[in-house]
Amino acid sequence: MKILVLNSGSSSLKFQLFIKEDLSVLASGLIEQIGNSSSGASLSFPDPSGLEKKLTRNDPVADHRQAIKVMAEMLQESGTLVDTSELAGIGHRVVHGGEAFHQPVRIDDTVIAAIEELVPLAPLHNPANLMGIRVTMEHTANTPQVAVFDTAFHQSIPEHAYLYALPYNLYEEHKVRRYGFHGTSHSFVARRAAAHLKKPIAELNIITLHLGNGASAAAICGGKCIDTSMGMTPLEGLVMGTRSGDLDPAILFYLGRESGLDMDELDSLLNKESGLKGICGENDMRTISQAAEQGDSQAKLALTIFSYRLKKYIGAYMAALGGVDAIVFTGGIGENSAMVRELSCQGLERLGIHLDTERNRLRQKEILEIHAADSRVSLLVIPTDEEYEIARQTLQVINKD
Ligand code: AMP
Repeated sequence: MKILVLNSGSSSLKFQLFIKEDLSVLASGLIEQIGNSSSGASLSFPDPSGLEKKLTRNDPVADHRQAIKVMAEMLQESGTLVDTSELAGIGHRVVHGGEAFHQPVRIDDTVIAAIEELVPLAPLHNPANLMGIRVTMEHTANTPQVAVFDTAFHQSIPEHAYLYALPYNLYEEHKVRRYGFHGTSHSFVARRAAAHLKKPIAELNIITLHLGNGASAAAICGGKCIDTSMGMTPLEGLVMGTRSGDLDPAILFYLGRESGLDMDELDSLLNKESGLKGICGENDMRTISQAAEQGDSQAKLALTIFSYRLKKYIGAYMAALGGVDAIVFTGGIGENSAMVRELSCQGLERLGIHLDTERNRLRQKEILEIHAADSRVSLLVIPTDEEYEIARQTLQVINKD
């Protein structure tokens, strides 16, 4: 039997097919620019001899209904999924589970209604996730479907860390609080770190740093998240590709009054024009690192601001945890940028953090230890795998039922 994982975005559909028994990957696909004339679909899968093969299509994909159909056709053509009866379950990534969902759940009408109710908290993401769920359920009514929430891992965060210092009724009436995101990635790499260190996760304090285009940090005590840097929305916390992360909220009132920017313009400014892009005009860390190495002062500044904010969160979470056993770097930047890892650990030696600069420059697909022999804290680079984690959690729910 097989497990299908779907990540349905507003204009894209990512999917991965796993063998249920060992969760090895059978096929990975992406349909982009849904609803746009330039949409395209691709599917990668190993042929029987193990060679990587690729199917592509360039016909327009009008909507998510058609995207699901294209996915089914391509899986069939590749021979990886000939009939939906081969599916033991389908796992759906859902961005916002609010306070309603602390763990993955089997999807039924009540769960769909609850995800719908959370749309105001994630207006861009939850409707797209729901679209994927609804269309899939029409096609495969008898296959168990599971929702895996980005926010669920953070539901263990205590009240003193998830509440903002705002009038309490805003929490009671409008659910204004920290939710946190990237939960599947944080929980996946934390478990892998514990396995690598050969210690029960219950005995470890871990800081996980998911550094991609979106970036977040999490403080994990005994396997439970006790704080995370993203807030009510994915805008708070670390510096990101185009998002500002933390700032003085009064800047918004000031800009509104002084430059006449309205709410939507301020929203766009902070989410799309800030972060690395705001500082140096470029949001891709690879390009920024190359420019910094060639002496571009604005790129250097962006890199320094990014790494300094990261260092502050490492320090804050060491305090929140009362000491840390391991720090994990993951995500496109965390896994690949030796420079960011070096800058964010620099000067933390008194806190027991000693980076081995040579090891830090090594590259490998597996877990990489980058701490020096005398480091009290283990520093690990662990490739994240959110699809695998969704498949694993989906399987857990199916096995429980
Ligand atoms: P993600 O959102 O996890 O796919 O990560 C995307 C980010 O990772 C982008 O900013 C990329 O520039 C960055 N990235 C990927 N590869 C490298 C690399 N070799 N060096 C620095 N940054 C990288």
